[in-house]
Amino acid sequence: TQACLSAIDAADALGAFAHKTPELALERAAAADKRIAAGDAPDMCGIPVGIKDLFCTEGVPSQAASKILEGFKPEYESTVSGKLRDAGAVMLGKLNMDEFAMGSSNETSVYGNAVNPWRAGNSDAALTPGGSSGGSASAVAADLCLAATGTDTGGSIRQPAAFTGTVGLKPTYGRCSRWGIVAFASSLDQAGPMTKTVRDAAIMGRAMMGHDAKDSTSANHGVPDFESMLTGNVKGIVIGIPKEYRMDGMPAEIEKLWADGTAMLKDAGAEIRDISLPHTKYALPAYYVIAPAEASSNLARYDGVRFGYRAKLAPGDGITEMYEKTRAEGFGAEVQRRVMVGTYVLSAGFYDAYYNRARRVRALIKRDFDEVFAAGVDAILTPATPSAAFELGKQVSDPVEMYLNDVFTVTVNLAGLPGVAVPTGLDRDGLPLGLQLIGKPWEEGELLNTAYALE
Ligand code: GLN
Repeated sequence: TQACLSAIDAADALGAFAHKTPELALERAAAADKRIAAGDAPDMCGIPVGIKDLFCTEGVPSQAASKILEGFKPEYESTVSGKLRDAGAVMLGKLNMDEFAMGSSNETSVYGNAVNPWRAGNSDAALTPGGSSGGSASAVAADLCLAATGTDTGGSIRQPAAFTGTVGLKPTYGRCSRWGIVAFASSLDQAGPMTKTVRDAAIMGRAMMGHDAKDSTSANHGVPDFESMLTGNVKGIVIGIPKEYRMDGMPAEIEKLWADGTAMLKDAGAEIRDISLPHTKYALPAYYVIAPAEASSNLARYDGVRFGYRAKLAPGDGITEMYEKTRAEGFGAEVQRRVMVGTYVLSAGFYDAYYNRARRVRALIKRDFDEVFAAGVDAILTPATPSAAFELGKQVSDPVEMYLNDVFTVTVNLAGLPGVAVPTGLDRDGLPLGLQLIGKPWEEGELLNTAYALE
């Protein structure tokens, strides 16, 4: 813990940590030492971790990287961070992210962007660690903590993992309780571990999962010991390669990465099968209707009364002015864009044309996966991202270009499936690239074992 705290102080320029909690960390580390000495040490005991700012942590600022939650210190702990705490994990502080987890580059944060510790070749240009869990990815990749929590609504664990050479697991929807995690799009949001290795993801993922009566979408499904399932043996398992993920204009390096990963699993004894997921091309548009729709509803609660920030009011201002000014000043541009898009697609005149249609597309996307799994495919291999980490400032002014980063990841959230990003290579500038494995519901153990064979 002490080594991590020093490393964090020396790495302020990365902007990975938004709030540091050194005293609390040392207290928890001392308590963990006692537990270890007493022979009562669960797997996470004494492990220094970072917690994404989206998780409510008792008595510690939890701002979702938004001005509107300025000064908010919850009186409660999210179920997931509470499970890690009870398992002895030592929280070092809260990690930077995109505002309300909306973004793919960590540039929408009220704290300013986080930086990727990797550099391209000899260039000094600072790169994005990805988003929205950019602080988590940066902190793990720069050895500021042993592991971090992330959340993934459309790729926010897997894309930053791929951009930083780390491992990111998005569990099956319902595996991790959403209680106490600031909601973005409730039918898509899932917490998960961001770690240096697949083994660490197995250990930490298990500690984060489990049924929680406080989240009605939390699943009552046994959580096996994933670590004991990491044999590296993939003989006979069937890996699907979906042709729809071979996008026009895909960089040759990504093609090669994907082909190399396929060859590696084949050499290890897996059966490779070409498959089709025909509705893939509708996933990104459907996601960017459903996610803003749910966000516009979830973000209605930030009204200047219940949480955080309230705008300064002029004499004569009433409650309407308070809402308007607070929300205009408290939300950043991307969040406002999502609230407006979401409100529009849910409005009476457009509900059927956009929201209902997107929901039907979502059902078709899920059916594509169901059919492939029913036909005997065990896991699906795809690239995690369409490129390596890009330069900060490059895409932030073009929302649609930014949204395209999620093209390989959003299908997994729409279908509620587990997905993992594993670092498997470098691009010509020496930057990390990752592959994604998509698994059957509740089969995180099998999925992590396949990822382990690829690592
Ligand atoms: N980049 C996507 C978005 O902006 C996904 C974000 C996420 O998974 N939280 O919505």
